[in-house]
Amino acid sequence: MKILIVGAGPVGLATALELAHHGVKAELIEKRSGPSEFSRAVGIIPLTRYNLRHEGVGEAIFNEAMRWTHFQIYRGEKTLLDLDLRDKIKPEEAVLGLPQDRTETLIREGLARLGVTTHYNTEATNITTTDEQATVTFADGRVESYDWVLACDGKHSSMREQLGIAYPGYDIPEQWSIADIDMDDSFDCSRIRFWIQGEHGHMATCLPIEKYRARALSSTPDALATIPVDLGVKRVRRQGTFTISVRQAETYRQGRVLLAGDAAHCHSPIGGRGMNLGIDDAIAAAHAILQDTVEYYSAERHAVGAKILKTTESLRKKLSSEKLTDKAFLSLALGAVQNIEALHGGLIRQIGAL
Ligand SMILES: Cc1cc2nc3c(=O)[nH]c(=O)nc-3n(C[C@H](O)[C@H](O)[C@H](O)COP(=O)(O)OP(=O)(O)OC[C@H]3O[C@@H](n4cnc5c(N)ncnc54)[C@H](O)[C@@H]3O)c2cc1C
Repeated sequence: MKILIVGAGPVGLATALELAHHGVKAELIEKRSGPSEFSRAVGIIPLTRYNLRHEGVGEAIFNEAMRWTHFQIYRGEKTLLDLDLRDKIKPEEAVLGLPQDRTETLIREGLARLGVTTHYNTEATNITTTDEQATVTFADGRVESYDWVLACDGKHSSMREQLGIAYPGYDIPEQWSIADIDMDDSFDCSRIRFWIQGEHGHMATCLPIEKYRARALSSTPDALATIPVDLGVKRVRRQGTFTISVRQAETYRQGRVLLAGDAAHCHSPIGGRGMNLGIDDAIAAAHAILQDTVEYYSAERHAVGAKILKTTESLRKKLSSEKLTDKAFLSLALGAVQNIEALHGGLIRQIGAL
């Protein structure tokens, strides 16, 4: 079987790993000149670790990542939640924190063990498809036909656009921001802290990704200025703003092309699900091809994606809502979680399965 994977982000890499583990070596291309050093996704849920279990990748992620087990949520000065689940859940149930570039490196190492390499500086510029094959033109003029093409080429997927697959949804007007920071040893790297600030419900969070390294993220243009406590910042490795879109492709399949990852859906980083959802698509796409069940892929994954988009959007709106009723409901709900121990294990599983 001749398969092309367009895009070597986490989703393209995960697709290649799953296929290679089952004996199918796909051609994996990436238009960048080398691996990305940027880390967007930092949260890894247990399902993703399981999805990446082949060639020791999941285990390597588990060994290297931070375990996120202590959650604190504040509104202004008030603590809404302070939950330390360290001794209440099994280590393998924890959500893990690891920079996306490290996750990608560990998958690439697993792929190397299976003899699959990424072809960098290789861009797909055009695609057409029939029910029998997809034909791709590359930037160097090469034209090649494939049994299957996996479009894992991100939110601005040119493969999706060239096939005329609509990507309906909306763009959130606010500018959000991230900063990757090194901290001094006053930093408590065991805690995830989340602040809701001011009457407009601006959000900010600090997510540990290494012992003295964290990701600050905010729904404002300046994450570090929005975090109301001294984090003991020693160095800002990188910071920037970005905008959020909430969109989903109307279909994940056309002819011999399957969409997966951000090419198929995008949403806010609240809940940290983008990469996790995309890697789950990757496994489903690989299995659909291997087991000859591709006719179900689009409907099944579209339904899963739609549910995640709905949940993450509802959570984003609730957290930032200016309505008194929403604020009161959130305080009550978090108070119940805080005080009813039986809910603690459920909460962490909920975070992992959001
Ligand atoms: C600030 C921020 C924080 C986030 N935090 C989280 C989080 O905590 N947890 C989480 O799960 N998700 C998170 N996400 C989302 C996550 O980063 C994305 O969902 C994930 O990177 C999508 O992976 P992908 O492989 O689908 O696409 P991408 O990572 O965008 O990769 C696509 C690749 O395709 C390549 N490409 C594009 N076109 C072509 C072409 N024509 N030919 C060849 N190559 C091509 C690109 O160069 C790129 O490398 C976050 C996102 C942001 C912006």
